[in-house]
Amino acid sequence: MSDDSHYYPKHECGIFGIFGHPDASLITYYGLYALQHRGQESAGITCSTDGQEFKTVKGMGLVPQIFDEDKLKSLKGNRAIGHVRYSTTGSSHIINAQPIVVNCAQGQVAVGHNGNLINANELREELEANGSIFQTTVDSEIILHLMAQPRSVSHENCLIYALKKIQGAYSLVIKSEKEIIGVRDPHGFRPLCIGKLGNSYILSSETCALDLVQAEFIRDVEPGEIVIIDENGLRSIKPFVPPEQNAFCIFEYVYFARPDSNINEVNVSTTRVRMGIELARLHPVEADVVIPVPDSGNYAALGYSEQSGIPFEQAFVRNHYVGRTFIQPTQLIRDFGVRVKLNLIKASVKGKRVVVVDDSIVRGTTARARVVNLREAGAKEVHVRVSCPPHRFPCHYGIDFPNSSELLANKYTNAQIAEYLGADSVGYLDVSSMIRATTLKPNNFCLACFTGDYPIKYNAESDKFIMERRKLRPPVELVPLEEQTRLL
Ligand code: AMP
Repeated sequence: MSDDSHYYPKHECGIFGIFGHPDASLITYYGLYALQHRGQESAGITCSTDGQEFKTVKGMGLVPQIFDEDKLKSLKGNRAIGHVRYSTTGSSHIINAQPIVVNCAQGQVAVGHNGNLINANELREELEANGSIFQTTVDSEIILHLMAQPRSVSHENCLIYALKKIQGAYSLVIKSEKEIIGVRDPHGFRPLCIGKLGNSYILSSETCALDLVQAEFIRDVEPGEIVIIDENGLRSIKPFVPPEQNAFCIFEYVYFARPDSNINEVNVSTTRVRMGIELARLHPVEADVVIPVPDSGNYAALGYSEQSGIPFEQAFVRNHYVGRTFIQPTQLIRDFGVRVKLNLIKASVKGKRVVVVDDSIVRGTTARARVVNLREAGAKEVHVRVSCPPHRFPCHYGIDFPNSSELLANKYTNAQIAEYLGADSVGYLDVSSMIRATTLKPNNFCLACFTGDYPIKYNAESDKFIMERRKLRPPVELVPLEEQTRLL
């Protein structure tokens, strides 16, 4: 394969839904607020009461930039779904913000999707050939088009038909006129859990959102499970033949999920500490101080310090107020972009042998910049420790990793990586230690970005071919923020 990038907009997302609460949109707003780390590009909420018209507010930017009191008041109803989205360039656009809402033979339907479909281009081509007109360039819309085909009067059958056609990673919240539905793909790539707030059921990507709205955690949605929530409560259907193994994305534990969330009833921060412990066992080194790259390396560095007995220090100080729109005076100040986010307490590292811990190295830009900072501050030795294995393969299931050719560990050996970073040594966690740190069974995970063993095969060449044939329309001009909700 010449190029293994995914020929479709990738998106890392967070989803939330609630049924049966008078302040459904407000609770959804708080839920999305807690899930903001899963996507910062756009957000949206769709809300209604039984049988009434769906109201949707969507916009580009962070949750509190999009919603104010008036907008939330306009979202009346006792059931809502919401979505936060991060996407790569080209697809960062208001038309691609979710929930996506359609009015079809089934009535009004809205969907919020976390994950990536790997047969999206193929399905889209097929649907377009049969007359479907797409509003967006996101793969999630395909699910709606498939559902909208009037094959059955039953909503459930239409959904099952759609789910059986799509392949890849999907956790979904779907809103019909009478129900909120949660779905996890048969492999269970992405998380989704169920909570309860009084008599209202909640669906959320992560438990941290349940905590914020003071909902009780009920359980995770199982891989391949559909949960339907309506006036009669919650019921579950499992229409798929289970695959040989589950494939939960282990990178959710390493980096993506919030540390205060529990996934598969295992706490994320505790797992990260255990990853640091395993890392210290695997790659010990004599040193004076262990420091994390905040915030992603914090818990693993604690674990490394605990296991090695080397004191922990928070020597990098993070500026939490660096926004995306910050004007970077790159011509005036050298390495400004790197310096503005993190600054080093020089006295903590001067003349010392330093272990610097981060969760992952992707392109190597971050780690390299940190080593430069440490050298400039007078560190005597710098040992880079990484709390997951080397990233060698791109993700086709929704985590934004670049092509193999851009992944540092795909090009270089560990010794070359140390040289590139300017470090005295570099040590990565290995696959078995990483899995051990989760305390879960090995056959639960997707490890493709580390091993190249993809749970669902993806043919990049044929996808590229379809993509070129279809000649995707160029992205539409961005609509200014203030006009977005008016247009919807
Ligand atoms: P890099 O500079 O490309 O090596 O980026 C590595 C850093 O980016 C890691 O320390 C992570 O904290 C963070 N990171 C890793 N994977 C992702 C991702 N898919 N999206 C955004 N940030 C990531």
